[in-house]
Amino acid sequence: MRTKIVAGNWKMNKNLKETEALLTELSAKLPDTKAEVIVAPTFVNLAAANAALQSSTIKVAAQNMHFAESGAYTGEISADMLLGIDVDIVILGHSERRAYFGEDDALLAKKVKTAVDKGLKVIFCFGEELEDRKADKHFALVESQLKNALFNLDASAWKNIILAYEPVWAIGTGETASPEQAQEMHAFIRKTISDAFGSAVADGVSILYGGSVKPSNAAEIFSKPDVDGGLIGGASLVASDFVAIIEAI
Ligand code: PEP
Repeated sequence: MRTKIVAGNWKMNKNLKETEALLTELSAKLPDTKAEVIVAPTFVNLAAANAALQSSTIKVAAQNMHFAESGAYTGEISADMLLGIDVDIVILGHSERRAYFGEDDALLAKKVKTAVDKGLKVIFCFGEELEDRKADKHFALVESQLKNALFNLDASAWKNIILAYEPVWAIGTGETASPEQAQEMHAFIRKTISDAFGSAVADGVSILYGGSVKPSNAAEIFSKPDVDGGLIGGASLVASDFVAIIEAI
């Protein structure tokens, strides 16, 4: 059985007080669930988030990480720094990092390798732009994103990889991929991984869907056999919405 996961990407939202308040509310309302629940506040609030969640099953993730061990990389954060504050999950490859900070597949391959070598779990995001889908290039694009960033990993590293398929046209736009579109792509992703690493790896990897998931559409998307949960942006900032999405899994 694959792990079901609901992860909230808070992006550049919530100051310290707001972080603590949202986590207190979330912990109090968290439904009884077998799914893994993860939240990713901004770097400066990660330690406080862990402290606020001490007696909760909710886990904390970072939104990014540098590939280098340490050194002259002003403003950056290393794997060891995350592990040093008990954060062992990191989101890499989010479309906003790709679009606004120039992160490409080659850079992401280095980040993923460092993260898994250090023992972090990676939520690896990828997905096509609207033009790719209109030109019927979405499968080829997704395949190349996976190959370029992840296919240099050993099969054993895949236990630390969580995939998040996020069609860029659905992120923060209110436009959601239909459950059928999500299932079609997730099945393709699993087959691509199976062809390269074998069915045990492919069947074990959780593939999350991300892109305007909300309480009203979560259950239908999560009902698809290859959709193992969601990476949630906007709706993860409101406790009642995030809880409703967790309840939907
Ligand atoms: C995201 O940023 O990963 C995301 C899925 O955002 P939203 O849910 O707001 O579309």
